[in-house]
Amino acid sequence: MIRFQRTLSPRLIRNTALALLGFAIPLASYAAITISNNAWASSPHEKTTMTDTATKFSASGFNITPLSNEAIQTLAKDLTDEERKIILNEGTEAPFCGNLLDNKKDGVYHCRLCKLPLFGSDSKFKSGTGWPSFFTPVDPDHVDPEVDSSHGMIREEITCARCGGHLGHVFPDGPKPTGLRFCVNSASLEFYETGDEVPALGLPTKLETAYFAGGCFWGIEDRYATLPGVLDVVSGYQGGDDSKTPTYREVCTGATGHAESVKVVFDPSIVSYSDLLAWFFRIHDPTQGNRQGPDVGTQYRSAIYTNSDEQMNQAKAFIQAQQAEGRWSKRTITTELRSVDDAKFYEAEEYHQDYYARKGGSCAAPIYPED
Ligand SMILES: [Zn+2]
Repeated sequence: MIRFQRTLSPRLIRNTALALLGFAIPLASYAAITISNNAWASSPHEKTTMTDTATKFSASGFNITPLSNEAIQTLAKDLTDEERKIILNEGTEAPFCGNLLDNKKDGVYHCRLCKLPLFGSDSKFKSGTGWPSFFTPVDPDHVDPEVDSSHGMIREEITCARCGGHLGHVFPDGPKPTGLRFCVNSASLEFYETGDEVPALGLPTKLETAYFAGGCFWGIEDRYATLPGVLDVVSGYQGGDDSKTPTYREVCTGATGHAESVKVVFDPSIVSYSDLLAWFFRIHDPTQGNRQGPDVGTQYRSAIYTNSDEQMNQAKAFIQAQQAEGRWSKRTITTELRSVDDAKFYEAEEYHQDYYARKGGSCAAPIYPED
């Protein structure tokens, strides 16, 4: 499951401040997923702290890691002088002059600079103020509020969460359901009508899924949750009798034939499937048959369940290579390899999810060094 409690602090502080100011955006909707980039070293529970190099994903699946100054300057080459003044230097366009003020087409308003989607046409309303107005962002993670005390008044400036570009301000006098008015410069926006082709930077990250069983799922879930590029890990049951949904109690007896497994959701542009395979053989012992350390039973067997021909081919080649010359080559690798088409994944009961993140500790196998 997504580990909001590990990653929310800076936003929680800021959003609490917003709430105190009477703003109505639900705190939970501001949650972003943050994964540090140093997960291949040291112990896993130290790896999930936010760092300057953290990769961040929004709730709707966009990579919102803050862009470097260099990247911003490269993107800014496309801006006009007027756009540059507004976006990079917190300028304001003259009221009733922006080209998107009266736009009534269906579509999405993206950040002019970095193309992150910011506001939908379904939240646009006529405010009479002279600037495009919206009552909510498409994803609260995409718009950052900051206190602006210029011009002798306290206002909430809003910026793009990814490039930091100035958008405008947010006021607590908007319509229902939020009661907010996001007052935005047309120059800070780029409109894409429904059906238009959106550039790659304006699209969500394409996520993939992988499945692994390597003993007690509490530990395997915990180990995968620490990897950069992994967005979510869910504990479950797989590879047994699919005639009915298994329970933990049933799986424990071995009667259903399921293994305790995890579903890993990952961003392949940050961590590849072959990285996940390599990590799998470092966080469990794939030669122990129907056990993993002190845990004995078919539910603790080693297994890889693939969801594409490509994953199957990679996993097969990986196991063969490991058997030939890897860490485990002196023993027989017992890892089961099957397609998810005949090994359906069943999510485990809620109390098994994020077990070590909530309870602390870990029964997982040691992390074996790289070969
Ligand atoms: Zn932006």
